Parts: sequence; structure tokens; C-alpha cells
Amino acid sequence: MKMNDLQRTTLIAACVLFGAIILLFICIFRVSNATALVIIVNTAILGFVSLVTSSRVRYLVLALLIGALALELFLYEPSSTLSNVSILVRFSITGLLVTYFASLLTTRSHVLYLDMKRLARQRQDALAESRRWLTRVNALVMVITTISTKNRLQDIFTEGLEEARKVFDADSGLIYSVSEKDGHMAIVGSFGYSDEVLDKMKRRGMETATLCRACTDISPIAVDNLATDDKCPNLQKVTTGSCICLPIVEGDTLLGVLHIRRRHPDAFTAEDIQLAQSMTFQFGLAMQRASLFEQVNRLAITDPVTGLYNYRKLGRDLDREIVRARRYRHPFSFIMADIDHFKTFNDTYGHQAGDAMLREVAGALNSGRREVDRVYRYGGEEFSILLPETDWPEACEVAEKLRKKVDALSVEALGSDEPLTTTISMGVAAFSSDSLQMEQLIAAADEALYEAKESGRDRVVAHAQLSKDNDLAEGTH
Ligand code: GH3
Ligand code: MG
Ligand code: MG
Repeated sequence: MKMNDLQRTTLIAACVLFGAIILLFICIFRVSNATALVIIVNTAILGFVSLVTSSRVRYLVLALLIGALALELFLYEPSSTLSNVSILVRFSITGLLVTYFASLLTTRSHVLYLDMKRLARQRQDALAESRRWLTRVNALVMVITTISTKNRLQDIFTEGLEEARKVFDADSGLIYSVSEKDGHMAIVGSFGYSDEVLDKMKRRGMETATLCRACTDISPIAVDNLATDDKCPNLQKVTTGSCICLPIVEGDTLLGVLHIRRRHPDAFTAEDIQLAQSMTFQFGLAMQRASLFEQVNRLAITDPVTGLYNYRKLGRDLDREIVRARRYRHPFSFIMADIDHFKTFNDTYGHQAGDAMLREVAGALNSGRREVDRVYRYGGEEFSILLPETDWPEACEVAEKLRKKVDALSVEALGSDEPLTTTISMGVAAFSSDSLQMEQLIAAADEALYEAKESGRDRVVAHAQLSKDNDLAEGTH
């Protein structure tokens, strides 16, 4: 049978106790009651002292006890000297054996105690370690949950940085996006850095991936002390403390860099870097997904020939504008524009020249519009313009300006010596009680456009009802 340390020590303790009792019995065999009492008390004292003190003290106590017993024997029983010596010898041997076994027992139990203490500490450390990892895994799950539900890149940057701030208890941090084309780095989200510091970072030329080691090495960079470590010379001159910078990669593409800083040196451990790496891996996936999502969304509302918003986007924007106009009683206007005699243009110069002209007209309308206005390709050679917060006379002015811009266009075309020009007609409608629905508003602008075509083209016409309403309103004044 195999015994463990504790069982072995307990067995030794039991044997020692049994041995001590036997020895004690031998000691007090045929002695007077007083002497027996002294021996029992002495042995008890010796046993106790041997268990609780160091070996030297034990032997000193043993000597003192032997002396005390000798004193008792020779003072109270001086007659039997021979027997006294024999009692003293018996007690001395018993004392020595008790002391020896007690030291043995104490040493063993002490070793056992130290072992148990070490094990308890190891257990505590392991527990603390697993708690720390659990917190980190939780943090990672939080990051994944937070950013995987976001479809906008900006939301991913903002939420991702917020999670990183919490996980690493960071003082500041930022995310750079890296352009796939020219490696230009742009700060797309940050926390803890003042505008002044961010400006300095931009000025120090920290805007190309070729100067960033995290980008060139495609591996994490840890700067333990920004004041002395020259791993990132640019950052070194701007801020202090310690930081980690990790490339955000998806497949072979470098998408950005995550930078996290604490104000104290040596604040990041190898585990921190490991965790941050897992985070940037998630950032990469989320950024890739979000940019695909944004691309699909953009394509869904963009006309491929002109790059303008398409009819689908017009429908959405008009609906929203109508709701706003109804709720807040704000005016807004709507223009339908149509290139004049475009069929003839195509027939004369070919469809490629037609496409080029379409793009030129789209560009002229888009660049000539006001900041708040939006230009759409309605379909074919027709365009729409939405003018929020604009009443119809102002809309007519905008339309007139755009019409002149289109008139002034000239397009070089293959097979034609002269630059090609065109004109455009426009119909203006405004949101009113007569055009409560999108279809009614478009129909009103269409009617005005028809009127512009009928009356000779290359002109702007407001819907007849608008002028009438205006006259009525002026009449009532
Ligand atoms: P109007 O002044 O009355 O508007 O005459 P129009 O010829 O412009 O109008 P019509 O509706 O008869 O013809 C429109 C032409 O626009 C027909 C079509 O070939 C041309 N068109 C429509 N979409 C495109 C396009 O994407 N590219 C080119 N090149 N032509 C287009
Ligand atoms: Mg047309
Ligand atoms: Mg036309």
C-alpha cells in the first residue's frame, strides 16, 4: 500500500506518541508518586517544547528538566542513590528519544505545511490567471459582438476603440486606415488625444505606411518607453508612456493600424499584445465586411454611367423630404431636366459621343449645384434635382444657373472637327398641398418640363399652378 506524505507523518506521530507512553511507563516504574508526577510533568513539558521550538532550545530544556528531576530525587529521596541514578538515566534516555522524535515530527510536518502552502499559493495564482483570461476572453467576445453588428465603417472604428480603451485601460488610442492604392494613412477614429496632438501627428509625416514599422513589418510593435525607445521616432516626439501598434490585416491586404497607449512606461505585457492581435483580427474582418456592405449600398444607389445618384435613391430621398416638409412645414423644390434633341445628337454623333455628353451634363449639374442640393439621373437623358428648404422662385434661379452651365459645355468627340454642345430644358415644381405624394410632385415637374419643351426648349419653366398660387397670394395682399 502506497502512503502519501500526510498519512506517513500521521503514522510517525502515532508511533512517537505510543513510544513516548511506553518510555514514560518504563520511567515511572517502581518510583515514588511524587517522582512519577515530576517525570510525567517534565516529559509533558519536554514534548510540548520540542514540538514548538528549535532543536537547541529543546536540548537546553531537557538538561534543565534532568537537573530539576535530580534535585527532586536527591532532596526528597537521598537514601536510594543507586536507584536515583537509574531513574535519571531512564528519564534522560526517554527525554532524548522524545526530543529526537519530536524534532523529526516537527521537521516533517513543517515540510508538509510548506508544501501545502505552496500548493495553495499555486492554486490561487492559477485561479487569478484563469480569471484574468476569462476577463480577456469576455472582452474579446464583447468586441466581436459589438463590431460584428455594425455595418458602417465609422461605427466599427468608434465602437472598436471604445472596447479597446476598456480592455486595456488605455489612456489614448487611434485607428489609422491605410489606403490600398498609395499607402496613405488617415486617422479615422481616436480617443484620449487632443486635437493639438493629432495635428502634430499629421504634421510629423505619420501618414504613410512606409514610415510605420507595424505596416512595413506587418507585425505588432511594442514601444516600452516612448521617451527612450526609438521604434517609433514620429510618435516619440509627440507623446510619452508606452504603446502598442498593430496592423489590421484581412487576407493579404493591409487595412489599417490600431494604436493603443498608456501614459506609464512598460505598461503592456506579451498577453496584452496577444489579445490586441486577436482584436485587430476581428477589426480586419469587420472592416472588410463593412466596406463591402458600403460598396454594395453605394452601387445600389449610384448610376454607373454618370456617377450620380440613381432613381432608387431619388425615391428614398423624396419620401424623406416629403415627410420632413409635412411635419415641419418647410418648403422644398424639385426639378426635372431633360437634354434637348438627344436622340438626334446620338443619331448624328454616335452613342459613345452621346454617353460622353451625358457624363459632361451630369458633371455640370453636379458641380453647379448648391451644397444642400442633390442631383440624380432619373433615367435616359433625364435628370432630377432635389432642393431642400427652397421655394420655387429660388429653385428657378438655381435651375437657370444650371441650364446656362449646360449650355456652355463643349465636348470633344471623335470624327467631329468642332466641339459638340447641347441644351437642356427644366421643369420646376414645389412641395405644396397639391403635391402631397411623390408621384404628384414628379408629375408636376414633368408637366412643367413638357411646357418648357413645347415652348421652344433650352429654358426653365415653373409649374403653372405655382405661378397661379403666387398671383393669388399677391392678390390677397
Ligand atoms: P426632347 O428634346 O423632346 O427631349 O427630344 P429627345 O430626342 O431628347 O427625346 P427622346 O425621348 O425622343 O430621346 C431620348 C434619347 O436619349 C433616346 C436615347 O437614344 C437617348 N438615350 C437615353 N439614354 C441614353 C444613354 O445612356 N446613352 C446615350 N448615348 N443615349 C441615351
Ligand atoms: Mg427624355
Ligand atoms: Mg430629351
